[in-house]
Amino acid sequence: MSASAKRSYHPETQLVHAGVLRSQFGETSEALFLTQGYVYDSALSAEKRFKNEEPGYQYSRFSNPTVSMFEQRMAALEGAQAARATATGMAAVTTALMGQVKAGDHIVASKALFGSCLYVVEEHLPRYGVASTLVDGTDLDQWRKAVRPNTKTFFLETPTNPGLDVLDIKAVAEIAHGAGATLVVDNVFSTPLFQRPLELGADCVVYSATKHIDGQGRCLGGVILGSEKFIQDHIHTLIRQTGPSLSPFNAWVLLKGLETLCVRVRRQTDTAATVAVALSDHPKVSRLIYPGRPDHPQAEIVRRQMQAGSTLVAFEIKGGKAAAFRFQDALKLVRISNNLGDAKSLITHPATTTHQRLTPAARAELGISDGLVRLSCGLEHPDDLVEDLLVALKAA
Ligand SMILES: *Cc1c(COP(=O)(O)O)cnc(C)c1O
Repeated sequence: MSASAKRSYHPETQLVHAGVLRSQFGETSEALFLTQGYVYDSALSAEKRFKNEEPGYQYSRFSNPTVSMFEQRMAALEGAQAARATATGMAAVTTALMGQVKAGDHIVASKALFGSCLYVVEEHLPRYGVASTLVDGTDLDQWRKAVRPNTKTFFLETPTNPGLDVLDIKAVAEIAHGAGATLVVDNVFSTPLFQRPLELGADCVVYSATKHIDGQGRCLGGVILGSEKFIQDHIHTLIRQTGPSLSPFNAWVLLKGLETLCVRVRRQTDTAATVAVALSDHPKVSRLIYPGRPDHPQAEIVRRQMQAGSTLVAFEIKGGKAAAFRFQDALKLVRISNNLGDAKSLITHPATTTHQRLTPAARAELGISDGLVRLSCGLEHPDDLVEDLLVALKAA
């Protein structure tokens, strides 16, 4: 087994080399260790491994060499001391939150959350006696006012889904720390390349690796990153004992996905910027939100906090649901799907899919109108994509 890449290398280099554990065969590509367990040279060695007196693997619910490579590559990329991989992004979010609280505690979260994250905060945690308060994440006063003596953690996602609002991570981290709480950031929409929550004061970063990290629509995965202490105190034992562990096969797919993350995400972000320019003044588009544009509602925070825009663009079609449906149905290249971060461009209508569970009033508060669509830009040529969108807008 050989060393991993230096932490000071550029992200492009880390994405290809960091965390590699080479076996005695000297393979070039990361090996897939599809094994549940490990054998020991002696009974004494087994005893020592269980006592943590000898390095090595014991069981793949705890750790696995292919999963370790994925965790180490993610940690190097994020600039985190430690990482733990999970089977899905939701396993990462649920473990990161549940690992920090017990009955009687309280958490504060931004209400603009991925639908399942909202379920965990609003419905799941309260069943175990953990109260939660949802705030408008863009309003710092609401975070301050939501704090209670028993507040343990703050949770937010930025840019938000699907409205692409940008929240001030540094300011929210300061409020959390002032209250003796931690901050967990779901960094899926900007990827580790464009936003570094740990440097801005967050204590924990979570990803759905299902999105840009795989990037080619193949497998689910997640990862939790933070300081060695945060991971040891809140995450390590919970994952080992409750088992939301990542499959080595999926870890291998995600490792190969990471190799091309920079190339894909930069290209998809450039394409999203091109699409935003092409649609912003279109007579059938009443509102367009793209974090890379000067007319974005939090453009000043974007400049301070993000290195680039996003692979996603949100826009509102004039004429509400009927027009948004006609538009989606007329697309030839862009496929209708609630997923994102894929090589294929995908479009979704949040009001009738991902956010249909919310009341119309709750949707309105989040800016999810009946005409809003969210486009995840893929790797197609931007000219083909823009043409597809413009032709479909005629049908809207
Ligand atoms: C997809 C997603 C999740 C959940 O990830 P899964 O891998 O689908 O479990 C959580 N947060 C955000 C922002 C997401 O986009």
